[in-house]
Amino acid sequence: MLSPLLKKLLFVRQFSIDEGKINVLGTDHIMLSSDALLKLQEIDSTKLYDLVKDSTFKQISDFVDHAQVYQQLKEVITLDITSLSKKLGPSEGIVKTIEEIFNIYGLGKLAILRLDNEKKQASVKIIDSSIAKSYLNKNKSRSKTAVCTITAAVLAGMFSYLFKKQVDAVEGRCKAKGNEHCEFIIK
Ligand SMILES: [Zn+2]
Repeated sequence: MLSPLLKKLLFVRQFSIDEGKINVLGTDHIMLSSDALLKLQEIDSTKLYDLVKDSTFKQISDFVDHAQVYQQLKEVITLDITSLSKKLGPSEGIVKTIEEIFNIYGLGKLAILRLDNEKKQASVKIIDSSIAKSYLNKNKSRSKTAVCTITAAVLAGMFSYLFKKQVDAVEGRCKAKGNEHCEFIIK
């Protein structure tokens, strides 16, 4: 199965995996296992957080730029993402678009619990975090702290773009700590 967003991107030739290349919206991607990413984030989690936050911010900008350039994409990403940050609210369509974009990263399934555009804050949960699952498989015991640094960084990058303000995502509950889901406060 393929996410609805990837199906649409495939249709307008903005997503391909062929000849040793994974391309999304004109940018090459590399697919790595969650085990490998878990090890990478253990090397220097602060630096990795900053790097992933920046690159996610850029990728969301690319989504918007492409949607502006290509009429096809504009129809594909049915909502005009550029207007998202202006009218973020409890609108179901906006929440759905953010969730769809996040869900192509393979980090787990995003559910937005609360969104406040005036205060520029949100809280979200991740169901079945890939990083937390790798941690539990590798360590065979629970972590004392939350472990999903890469996930936090991706969320920080996405919401910084949407809120037009630099925000960070802090993980409270984490599946690796024994909680049912991972939860992040973004502000
Ligand atoms: Zn977690």
